[in-house]
Amino acid sequence: MITRDHSPADEGVRFLAEAGQALAASLDWEQTLVQVARLAVPALADWCIVDVLEEDGVTIKQVAVAAADPRKEDLLREMRALYPPTIDSPQPAARTIRSGEPVLFEEFGKAELHATTRDDHHLELIKRLDPRSALAVPLVARARTIGAMTLAWSESDRRYTEPEIVLATELASRAALAVDNATLFSREREARAKAEEAVARLRDLELISEAALTHLDLDLLLQELLDGVRTVMRADTAVCLLLDETGDELVASWARGLEEEVEAGVRIPVGAGFAGRVAATRAPVFIPDVNKAEVVNPLLIKRGLKSLLGVPLLVEGRLLGVMHVGSVTSRVFTNDDERTLQLLGDRIALAIEQSSLYESARAAGKRLEFLAEASELLGSTLDYSAALERLSDLAVPYLGDWCIVDMLRGDLFERVAVAHADPKAQAAAYEFLKRFPITPDAAHGPGFVIATGRAELISEVTDEHLQRASGGDPEYLEALRAIGMTSLLCAPLIARGRVLGTITMLSEQPERHYGPADLVTTEELARRAAVAVDNALLYREAERRADAARVLEHIGDGVFMLDRDGVVRLWNRAAESVTGLTADDVVGRLAAEAIPGWSAIAGSVPVATTPATASSAETLPLELPGRELWLSIAAVEFNEGTVYAFRDLTADRVLEELRSDFVATVSHELRTPLAAIYGAALTLQRGDLELDETLRGNLLSVISTESDRLARTVNDILWASRLDADRVQLEVGMYDPRELARTVVEAAEVHLPAGIELSFSCEEDLPPILGDPDKVRQVLTNFVDNAIKYSPDGGVVELRIERRDHAVRFIVVDSGLGVPLSEQRRIFDKFYRVDPNLTRGVGGTGLGLYISRELVRRMNGTISVESREGDGSSFSFELPVATA
Ligand code: ADP
Repeated sequence: MITRDHSPADEGVRFLAEAGQALAASLDWEQTLVQVARLAVPALADWCIVDVLEEDGVTIKQVAVAAADPRKEDLLREMRALYPPTIDSPQPAARTIRSGEPVLFEEFGKAELHATTRDDHHLELIKRLDPRSALAVPLVARARTIGAMTLAWSESDRRYTEPEIVLATELASRAALAVDNATLFSREREARAKAEEAVARLRDLELISEAALTHLDLDLLLQELLDGVRTVMRADTAVCLLLDETGDELVASWARGLEEEVEAGVRIPVGAGFAGRVAATRAPVFIPDVNKAEVVNPLLIKRGLKSLLGVPLLVEGRLLGVMHVGSVTSRVFTNDDERTLQLLGDRIALAIEQSSLYESARAAGKRLEFLAEASELLGSTLDYSAALERLSDLAVPYLGDWCIVDMLRGDLFERVAVAHADPKAQAAAYEFLKRFPITPDAAHGPGFVIATGRAELISEVTDEHLQRASGGDPEYLEALRAIGMTSLLCAPLIARGRVLGTITMLSEQPERHYGPADLVTTEELARRAAVAVDNALLYREAERRADAARVLEHIGDGVFMLDRDGVVRLWNRAAESVTGLTADDVVGRLAAEAIPGWSAIAGSVPVATTPATASSAETLPLELPGRELWLSIAAVEFNEGTVYAFRDLTADRVLEELRSDFVATVSHELRTPLAAIYGAALTLQRGDLELDETLRGNLLSVISTESDRLARTVNDILWASRLDADRVQLEVGMYDPRELARTVVEAAEVHLPAGIELSFSCEEDLPPILGDPDKVRQVLTNFVDNAIKYSPDGGVVELRIERRDHAVRFIVVDSGLGVPLSEQRRIFDKFYRVDPNLTRGVGGTGLGLYISRELVRRMNGTISVESREGDGSSFSFELPVATA
């Protein structure tokens, strides 16, 4: 408060200090100016007006009045309400704002009154306010004039002088500073509030985009997000366009305020039009006036949009699409708007990306589930036709409306499964598909896929496709058109490099077009199906082979297989038992090495190329170590090698040989004595010859000897056949061995040939033996006869009887031809005779020793031979001692 007790300078300083405090008290600039007006009265004026220049730089607005006389405050308000000064008006406030300098009316007289008023009423009002001295000072802050303070001395009748002007100017400048501060503060606060609001909005959007992760429906999410964008951007429309799979076109995907664009399925090439330009430049595009823009989607104009702002939707530098907002009133989108929209765009792009990742993960999950189910189904049975049928049922409707499985059988296709989403349509579908067989020269579908071995994807089936597929058959074309397929997928069933068939998926739905992901799924499905089918086929083949192997194992004929390299791959049980070579010995080895003697006969085995043409087997000798096998063998060649089948004819062969030998021998043995008898008889009958007694006697002797020999031969044959038929009766009893032997020796001595000496020796006190006396004699006679017969050069034949523990041994020793060691075992066999060359042509039937062996055996005795070739033989047999 200014008082007269103080010097004016002191008062001024104090006043300003007080004013500074008062002005600092508020950050509300209007409040500050009211405060200024109050400070000015009465210290600097009887009344005071504070005006500010509006932002337009023209209008001047009164913000505060103060007057010592309260009635004058009302007058001041009335005057300012009626006559607001403008920048170019005559009032002192306007003048000082214009000049930026104080305006002083030291004496406010009549002239000033007129000069500063606009009309009579104005003049009237001013008169009533009664200014006598007036001062207007500008409110200047940071070199900018923001208003004016008008002061007037009235009833106190004072005049403005220099110190007051300084003080008023000072007060004004402090007031201006305070106002500026307040304005700055409020602007800052406003800015902060805006920023906070933006942050809050972003946080909301962030929450929304986080929600995108759990949002199952991208459509709902995007609509929500676009609503948010409209609000934040204070826009009328918000639209999202997504880049399609090819990356060449933008597809209107979501819209708020412009839903018709999505409904129309608007597609915009990248590079063309407004959105296309955003996509191409990957930068924001602002169109202030749609009507002046070059190319804009007509739907935007139709909607009445005036201004547009578009931003690219980018994730990690990848363009997903474009988002734009529009305003139906002309609007300048500022840099801030642009930044905000880009920020929103980034969030939305992220949301789309995450959502589509999620969607594709979900789709992939579903695919895996489907494939797992398919695998389980395929693995559950070895009947692949049934499995494929169930598989096609599973694939519909997951993968399409139709699923068709075709299998290749030789050169022919067999349709093993057809499934249709509508079971009623399925029967008709089947009928239809049967009418048109698949051909390998087809332009599309199974025939084509089989021929190329590669999957086919026709995302959008056109009529041209159908025309090509029909191969020019109008009926087929009509039928294909009738299906109304929109998309096709066909994948080959390939296992171990072989195309087994195809699996075809068809979509009939206009909105379902197959894409790369479906192709991958179908191919995978086909792969799994192929493996299952292959397994089933292999299993069947294995079963068949196992059956064949079992048969081969148990077949009586020897069977073996050589591969193309001559390696033994199979050697059955019969082959083992015939040859004595085990499968372990030969399988996996070269036949030439593993089968002794094979090389010698391999070339002679007849080999047929088909089982049907199998020629008759050849009988060939296989030289195994120590023995010879006679095999009846034949072979069939096939693409993996050669199969041989053989039968062991060794026994038959030997028998056969023996038989033919026997026939020759016996006929010889019969013919020789018969010829002698016949000759002798003829000679005796001749009447023209004078036969002396000696000659007659000799002839009769020949007849009797040869008859005897004939009888013996016939006898041997009879005995052999009786033994074979087991019709030999034995009269076993206790007999003295010496007595039995003695009769044999005596009979032999009767017709002992020249040069043979027969001796007989016997141990003392021999026990009786158990046996049939006739048979014992027969065996002994055979031994003695042989000993004489096979000693053509004469010599001693010795018959001995010895005691052996519980047996008695009869031994006939000669010094004749002997028996080669290799023949010793076999001379007891039926019909067996040592080669006549070795026996110097000595005749015989080969039955004597066989009969002997059989008889001794039947008397529980044993028979044996000891001999050295050319050094005599010792034939013996033992019979058990008869115990009382
Ligand atoms: P065969 O004497 O009628 O030929 P055997 O069965 O009696 O028939 O004898 C079989 C074979 O044994 C004879 O062919 C002969 O080669 C041989 N053999 C038998 N006894 C003797 C012997 N004492 N000395 C030499 N070889 C004999």
